[in-house]
Amino acid sequence: MRDIKGTHIVVIGAAKSGIAVALLLKQKGAEVFVTDHGSVNRDFRSKLEAADIPFEEKGHTDVAKQAEFAVVSPGVPTESPMVQYYLDQGKDVFSEIEVASWFTDSRIVAVTGSNGKTTVANWLDHLWTVAGRDHKLSGNIGIAFSDVVYHTTCDHLLEVSSFQLDHISTFKPDISLILNITPDHLNRYNYDLEAYAAAKFRITENQTENERFIFNYDDPIIEKHVESLKQKQSNPQLWAFSHKNEVPEGAFVRNNQIIFKFNNQEESLMPVEEIGLRGQHNLSNGLATALAARAAEIKNDAIRESLRTFTGVEHRLELVRKVDGVKYINDSKATNVNAVWFALDSFNVPLTLILGGRDKGNDYSELIPQIKEKVHTIIAIGESKDRIEEQLGDVAPHFVRVETMGGAVRAAYKGAKKGEAVLLSPACASFDMFDSYEHRGKIFKDEVNKL
Ligand code: ADP
Repeated sequence: MRDIKGTHIVVIGAAKSGIAVALLLKQKGAEVFVTDHGSVNRDFRSKLEAADIPFEEKGHTDVAKQAEFAVVSPGVPTESPMVQYYLDQGKDVFSEIEVASWFTDSRIVAVTGSNGKTTVANWLDHLWTVAGRDHKLSGNIGIAFSDVVYHTTCDHLLEVSSFQLDHISTFKPDISLILNITPDHLNRYNYDLEAYAAAKFRITENQTENERFIFNYDDPIIEKHVESLKQKQSNPQLWAFSHKNEVPEGAFVRNNQIIFKFNNQEESLMPVEEIGLRGQHNLSNGLATALAARAAEIKNDAIRESLRTFTGVEHRLELVRKVDGVKYINDSKATNVNAVWFALDSFNVPLTLILGGRDKGNDYSELIPQIKEKVHTIIAIGESKDRIEEQLGDVAPHFVRVETMGGAVRAAYKGAKKGEAVLLSPACASFDMFDSYEHRGKIFKDEVNKL
């Protein structure tokens, strides 16, 4: 527990996590000041006022430069002038999870990766509930770690982004997980995949042989970093998961059975087909979740039950409805090509695929083999229509351009036959037409419900 009584601290960024950490620091006796270059919304403003925390908005003044160290909200880039000011002064800049972690000795399970973080974080939440373990889920999922860290007698399950890991110092999960590393958010890492991977690996940086690191054995970038991790003087115990290969220690699949292997002893957990979620990516997610539970000494019975009964998270391969024998699937959260690849991979029926939105420099050609095999109609929406047509216009028998989500759903309805599926898995951000991926998914569902 770190004593911060009377310490002058500035919080940069007055959004959800920034406000939560400011309140936490104030409650622990610090002199907190909050600064934001934009305006602070009314709700956050009244929270700060109620806690008697001074703040400024629409720009930074010299008052914000007086603190001993800065705490940065995850939405604020390292390049922003105020963060740079503190770094130039040789002062510390910490992320919100770093600061929250100073105030608990409870078990921390932290998951990161390019895709699947929210799914696994919620799966962990489900598993801990099934096992009857007191816990709190927080992090990158809408509830800040700082909001719940005062629960000191329960396990903390955290979804962690690489931005949060950029500014840690002593953050040390008891159990850490990296699900996969694929290009996404590279704009924040100077388009350097190595830098992005290194940022994710910081989740292991303070772990020692008393802690455990759970990783994807099938991911070549992770494998490279695990090799360097092994060279370190003090490193965590390594548990791997794989649905393709047998692993030395961890979880894998043999003859459609999930096998745990620890200290050269194998245990057969359950048949793969009993897992509640479809797709090989969700098999990986399930293996990762199961290993984390095992590392927390949860019994196999609870692990099995949770793998069977978890129904997934909204907007991730979510079944909306069956209309005339056609399944409509909402995968609005698929905001990169890799997520779409796994979505396509999880189907073995003919598909109509709705793609498009705000492009982040996507290479859609990675999808061509799967599209040729399964997709009869591509429906393109949003800003990236032209780019998608250039790259995929001739790949499937039909290519349709539409202006609205309603148009996309109606076009899909016309072309789909009984036994098939219509999949919204856009590979793009939503901000060209919608407020968020949740909004996009909701409009898709509304349109499907009108059919
Ligand atoms: P994150 O929180 O990391 O963005 P989500 O769980 O919200 O991840 O899933 C994002 C998208 O990626 C969804 O379309 C989902 O179906 C897909 N996905 C989930 N797990 C994986 C995985 N292990 N590998 C690839 N894609 C995945």
